[in-house]
Amino acid sequence: MRIVLLGAPGAGKGTQAGVLSKKLDIPHISTGDIFRANIQNGTELGLKAKEFIDSGKLVPDDLTINIVKDRLLKRDCQKGFILDGFPRTIPQAESLDNELNGLGIKLDAAINLEVPDEVIVNRMKGRRVCGKCGKPYNIHTLKPKQEGVCDVCGGPLLIRDDDKEETVRERLRVYYKNTEPLIGYYDSKGILYNFDGTKDIGVTTGEIIDKLEQIRKDRTGGFE
Ligand code: AMP
Repeated sequence: MRIVLLGAPGAGKGTQAGVLSKKLDIPHISTGDIFRANIQNGTELGLKAKEFIDSGKLVPDDLTINIVKDRLLKRDCQKGFILDGFPRTIPQAESLDNELNGLGIKLDAAINLEVPDEVIVNRMKGRRVCGKCGKPYNIHTLKPKQEGVCDVCGGPLLIRDDDKEETVRERLRVYYKNTEPLIGYYDSKGILYNFDGTKDIGVTTGEIIDKLEQIRKDRTGGFE
């Protein structure tokens, strides 16, 4: 399946994408993770992206679109993919459509996680991320087994610079201006599916899986 995940920052895209990627056995592609890895490795892309990310702004489309195009050409994307945090603007969505058209494929679903702003701001205060492998945690809703330590790789759990309340508010402003219009974009293509992102993580995952299964059945008669 070829899926994009929509929703404000902190709506749970990264968490859902991680689970869905395992369940459906397709790669999870997060532009935010790609940028953070580049910042950590001190690459030219990382240097360019850092100032935008730290201030809660979007990284310019040309930089972002190219990294996704390259990633989608990798072999593991042939069986499908989950895009998390991309597209975030209408030009990004259009260039994704063009790229996929050129490859003779189409998106199956745009999954939109709906969460009110105040819930998001509160969630972001509890958000932590593994400094080594990038796995997301939340000290209220998605606790690690041992405080401050990643369950998977033992790395240290950190607060992202852009999760400070001021920056979160700016990211929400940027979301409403640039990214929310994508809901109408995918709705008009008939592939938008809305989910209540305030429920338990596992409940929302179950609802998404059921919907994806139904979409798949409508097309091919079951999961491949
Ligand atoms: P995320 O981890 O998805 O919340 O992304 C963190 C930050 O990376 C965002 O606040 C943006 O600054 C940048 N970013 C990630 N994806 C994109 C994108 N598709 N377009 C522009 N900037 C992005």
